Amino acid sequence: MTPVYNFSAGPATLPAPVLARAREELQDWHGSGMSVMEMSHRGKEFMSIAQQAETRLRELLGIPADYHVLFLQGGATSQFSMVPMNLLRGRKQADYINTGAWSKKAIAEARRYCSVNVAASSEDSNFTTIPPADSWQLDPAAAYVHYTPNETIGGLEFDWIPETGTLPLVADMSSTILSRPLDVTRFGLLYAGAQKNIGPAGLTVVIVRSDLVGDVLDCTPSMFNYQSHADNGSMLNTPPTFAWYLAGLVFEWIGEQGGLAAMAEVNQRKAGKLYEFIDRSDFYSSPVDPRYRSWMNVPFILADESLDAEFLSQAGDAGLLNLKGHRSVGGMRASIYNAMPEAGISTLTEFMAEFERNRG
Ligand SMILES: *Cc1c(COP(=O)(O)O)cnc(C)c1O
Repeated sequence: MTPVYNFSAGPATLPAPVLARAREELQDWHGSGMSVMEMSHRGKEFMSIAQQAETRLRELLGIPADYHVLFLQGGATSQFSMVPMNLLRGRKQADYINTGAWSKKAIAEARRYCSVNVAASSEDSNFTTIPPADSWQLDPAAAYVHYTPNETIGGLEFDWIPETGTLPLVADMSSTILSRPLDVTRFGLLYAGAQKNIGPAGLTVVIVRSDLVGDVLDCTPSMFNYQSHADNGSMLNTPPTFAWYLAGLVFEWIGEQGGLAAMAEVNQRKAGKLYEFIDRSDFYSSPVDPRYRSWMNVPFILADESLDAEFLSQAGDAGLLNLKGHRSVGGMRASIYNAMPEAGISTLTEFMAEFERNRG
């Protein structure tokens, strides 16, 4: 098998050592004679897998004891509903910051449950920048403030955590969680679909301060109630056991790499190399405000878009996969999460330079 580098935005590439370990353990986990896929989620084997994954995540992120860590299903998209259902707590409005496609989806869903105050938006700039903090019109009567620290499609990422006073801060961290150290205490709740930086699709991680949990809208199904999941150790029903196990292996791998500080160093270097190459070239360009360029998702365009198809086809032949930008924005996008090795970036920039020489 020739090596490939997979730049998919999600489901995304996983660390090779994690896949090797999963393969080793696939049919017989630790002498149990069972695959993790075949185990009862309430048996002692899976209980130990589940607890270890949670412990590792708590260690990596330094999650305080007064936060629940929930291993759920339904993707980040279900959180667009679960957040208002659980966090409105008697209030009728919530603040949302609109920085791109995922913010917009969160806003549209929240409007089913409450009055949404879009406290700031960068739509005017076509979402190429972050609205400055002093322009935000937060509503003191809001139940919480929701934002998207990394817009996966636009490649726009906050380099600061909003200060929201007593209003709980809620973050959709799907494509940036675990990319660097994070002060969890700044947040009331954060959530992430696993398939970008945590593990396979099918698992959603929610980290929520326990005092925010328990007072839900009357219509809330128990599957959408954080309290019922917290009370049942995320085993209100059958959890996504294999995805949970793989997430645990990814957490272990991150620990072995030196934890989140080490991840941040490598991620910053990887993104820096790619942006620097793009900026030096007259053929490729990045539309995003340099200050807010994402470390995880790097959109770029070719000077001549009629070459897009040829670029993608030659990239594919060179083992550089899934570089096509999101259908809503076009162009290219290289998603370079934790599991993308640095060699993937060098191979990509070498290919891009070569393509520019031949076709630029
Ligand atoms: C991928 C993504 C989502 C959607 O996640 P699903 O798990 O498919 O529901 C939401 N928000 C952000 C920021 C994402 O990157």
